[in-house]
Formats: sequence, structure tokens, C-alpha cells
Amino acid sequence: METDQTLEVVALGGLGEFGMHMMAFRSGGSIIVVDAGIMFPDEELLGVDIIIPDITYLLENKSEVKAIFLTHGHEDHIGALPFILPYINVPLYGSSFTMALVKNKLEQHGLMGEAQLHTVKEKEQISTGSFTVQFFRVTHSIVDAFALAIKTPAGTIIHTGDFKIDPTPLDGKKFDLHTLAAYGEQGVLALFSDSTNAEHSGYTASERSVNDRFESIFRTSTGRIVLSCFTSSIPRLQLVVDQAKHYGRLISFLGRRMLENTETAAELGFLKIPPGLVIRAKDIRNYPREKLCVVAGGCQGEPMSALSRLALDDHKDFKIDQGDTIVLSARQIPGNERAIGRMMDHFYRRRAEIYYADGSQPPVHVSGHASEEELKLVVSLAKPRYFIPIHGTYRQLHRHAKLVEKTSAAHKIIMAETGDIVRFGPAGAEITGKAPVGRVLIDEGSLEEVAEFVIRDRRHISEDGIILPIIAINKKTGMLEVPPEIVFRGVAFAEEERLLAESKLMLTETISGASVEERGDWTVIKEKIRKDLKKFFYKQTAKRPFILPVILEI
Ligand SMILES: [Zn+2]
Ligand SMILES: [Zn+2]
Repeated sequence: METDQTLEVVALGGLGEFGMHMMAFRSGGSIIVVDAGIMFPDEELLGVDIIIPDITYLLENKSEVKAIFLTHGHEDHIGALPFILPYINVPLYGSSFTMALVKNKLEQHGLMGEAQLHTVKEKEQISTGSFTVQFFRVTHSIVDAFALAIKTPAGTIIHTGDFKIDPTPLDGKKFDLHTLAAYGEQGVLALFSDSTNAEHSGYTASERSVNDRFESIFRTSTGRIVLSCFTSSIPRLQLVVDQAKHYGRLISFLGRRMLENTETAAELGFLKIPPGLVIRAKDIRNYPREKLCVVAGGCQGEPMSALSRLALDDHKDFKIDQGDTIVLSARQIPGNERAIGRMMDHFYRRRAEIYYADGSQPPVHVSGHASEEELKLVVSLAKPRYFIPIHGTYRQLHRHAKLVEKTSAAHKIIMAETGDIVRFGPAGAEITGKAPVGRVLIDEGSLEEVAEFVIRDRRHISEDGIILPIIAINKKTGMLEVPPEIVFRGVAFAEEERLLAESKLMLTETISGASVEERGDWTVIKEKIRKDLKKFFYKQTAKRPFILPVILEI
């Protein structure tokens, strides 16, 4: 660093790609990090559970890293913490709901003993190293979301986190536009702003606007209502709880994370559930269908989720029948469209009615991210010297930059991607180089061995090898056309012959144990194969080869 007034900003993820938000700010010998999120693997990367940013840059400067500041509790902002804290155990700061979700996560990974969790209130300021960070409220699809004003020796940075400007949030806690504007008046060096929804014109609708659709669904449905949304969408879940109460339906939450998050939100007062409204999943069959609302995790068609199981009659507590109503109150994350499409097909085969975000009004889902007009308002209030679009694919960053260009010629726009080092100095700002960045693939192990995971860097893959189970399925009958084949690559097992024979046998069993409909659904059958083989090879060899099922339809 040349002078004390220099600031270096490096995105370790989330710029020019979807998810995995993490950004480092470095000045005067100290580094702070904003968010530590995951990227969800899409169908092409089936074979891993999660993807996290490579933190080599932080490890190389480890003694400088002071703290991690969290904007809100979505997985693409906090999900990487359990995999990063064992390497860099620094204090974590975030809102009360964010920190509650972080606590659950760290407990599951046995990391709470060492963790330093700090809950901050709105407008609170934290000073560490060369930085002072103030949290101020924004509105988003999760409760208790903050933007950050980061005071650095080079000037003030505004980092919006994820946001939309919801003038009628359900909890009444509005976007703190006044604080943003006050910083704008004092002078903002740079604004880093959420680009997720930059391609949408106009304004994003309030969370409240889905209520009209929910109301009509609850009013007209005669069977069970099975609703799915992201498990952290607490405002959305509040609307569901309120409608259920109003229309005399009991609620049952399905799925581990759905249960955990709703419980946490209720404990902290973010989700208000009247006593007696919630029943356990195993009691569902004891109540008439028209008296039930089931809230299930799995809105992205995740193959082992509660919703996916219901779609295939594979849930232990009840089955979907004709007249039941499915509500998919979430957007389809890019890469998941086909899996969700197939899940909807399964529900339609069971003669269920499905409501999803198909563009009809009133909407069954609204975005949590700002559209064009809101984005322009934020930049107009912040009046930054430099504008850097963040959170988005390169196309979204580009669109965001284009519309900011229209607001005023005064903002200098920097188009940075993950890994670019943006240096702010007395002479101005520029991209000066590239930090080491990348994606680290993580295999979370089976449920029986929760705390275990393997970081899939190149070294691990070369040590444990790759296994390709290949099956040929008859498209019409769903039957195996030829016996399954298994190919090992880079695997050195002591008893390779035996393992090959036994794993083939087990593969045949997995496939014959699945229904014809499951065999026709690649997402589901691939995940079943992967799970079973993973368990098998771990038991037999204590290794975790990378398993990539290949399915041929004949
Ligand atoms: Zn996000
Ligand atoms: Zn978010």
C-alpha cells in the first residue's frame, strides 16, 4: 500500500456470477470482509452440495483480517461461514436474525465453541482496524437486512447488500433512505449496489402484494394447500400464517431447514404464530384436508427435499391427492428450471392444482431485489464519485451500469469482476490487478455424518478419484436396458474387482428400488445414485470419490 489513504477492494465472489457474495476491503494494514456466501450448484455440477469462494487472498493476508460483516441471512451471503471460519476465525457482525441463522449453522458444524458472534442494531457503528462500519436498514425478502456504510481512510463506501425499496414492509421497518441520503450529502467515495434485478423496469412490488393472491387461494381451495418458498422468507411465511389462521387451516412445517428457520424466527419475534396453529407433520393424516396448510422446503426442486418427495409420493407423512393445491411462492433460480419443471409435472400427474410465478396477477411471488427505478433512486441519494455494480451476472452488472449512466454523468462507473483488485487512491480509482479467486466445491457428506465435509479442491479430486456410474434407461418403460456400468478414474482401491462388482449390484438395486416416474426424473435418480454410492464407497474405502452419474435414455 502506497499511502494511508489507499483502499483496495476485492470481490472474492458475486461479481459476474450468480451468488457466492464475498468482498474484502483492505486499507492501512487491515482487512474487513463483507458477507461470505455460497453459490448453489446447478444441474451441471450435480455431484457437489455447495460451492464457496476461494479465500486464498484472505489466507495470504491472514494477520490483517479483522472481521466479517454480514448484510443479511440469505445463504448466498452467510452460507460459506462454516467452511471459512476454521481457517479465519474473526469476529462476525450482523443483525439479530442474521446472527441467529449463523448460530444454527455453526452449531450444526460444531463450530460455536470458538465463534465470535456479535449482534448489531440498526445504525450501530463498529470500529475495527482502519475501518468504521455503520449498519442501516434496507428492505428485502428476508427480515432484518442491512446495508453498510464503511468509513475508510480513502473515503466512505456504501455497500447496499441485497435490497428493494418496499414502502409497505410487513414488519413496518422501512428502508432507511434518510441515512443513505445523509451519507450522500457528506460525500460518498463509492457505491456498491445490488444488480440482481437490474433488467426489470419500474419498481419491484411490495412483499404485501402477494397477499391478494394468497387470499384467493386460501378462499377457494378445497383440498390441502401445500406452499413452498425459501425457508428464510419470513415476511412471506407470515402472510401464509395469517391466511391459514383466517381461513381456519392448521399449519405444518416440513423439512429440516424450514422447521429450524421458522422456529428461530418465532423465538425472536419476527414470525408471529398464534398458539395451537402449528401441528407436527406426523399428525397431518389425522386432520381433514380442507383444514390443512403444509409449508414445505424444496421450492427449487431439490431432489431430496420435502416438496420433491411429496411430488413423487415418497413422503412418509402423507400423499398429494386430486384437489390439493400446490403454491410455489419463489423464483426459479437459474439452473433449476428443468428440475422444478419436472417436479411440477409430477404434481400435475397427481391431479393437483399448481400456482407458480407464471406472470399472472396478482403475483404468487415478488422479487426481493430492486428494479430500475429503485436502483436509480439509491444512486441519486448516495451521489457517489464511483459506482460499482455488484451481485449479478455480467449481463446484470452491465444493465445496472447503463441505467446509472443515465442518472448523471458525474458518477464514474467501474465494471469489476470477481478477483479484480479495485484500488482507490489520491489519484482516483482503477483496477490494478487480479487476486487469486475461484470456486471451491464442497461435498457435505451424508446426513449420518453431519459434521463431515470434504473440500473439493483439485488436490482432493486427484487423491480420491472420480467415479462415473453409467445407466441406460428405456424412455418408455423406465426399465434398465442393459446392466449398469461403472467407470473408475484416478481411483486406487485395494480390491478394485470386488468393489466394482458390489457397487454395480448396489446401483442396480438403487434403480430397481425407484419408481418408474423417479427413474424418468434425472435430478431425482442421479441424486439417489450419488447418495447410495457415496455411502458405499465411504464405508468400504474411507474415501470420498467424486461421483458423477451419467444417464442415457434409449
Ligand atoms: Zn443475495
Ligand atoms: Zn438476499
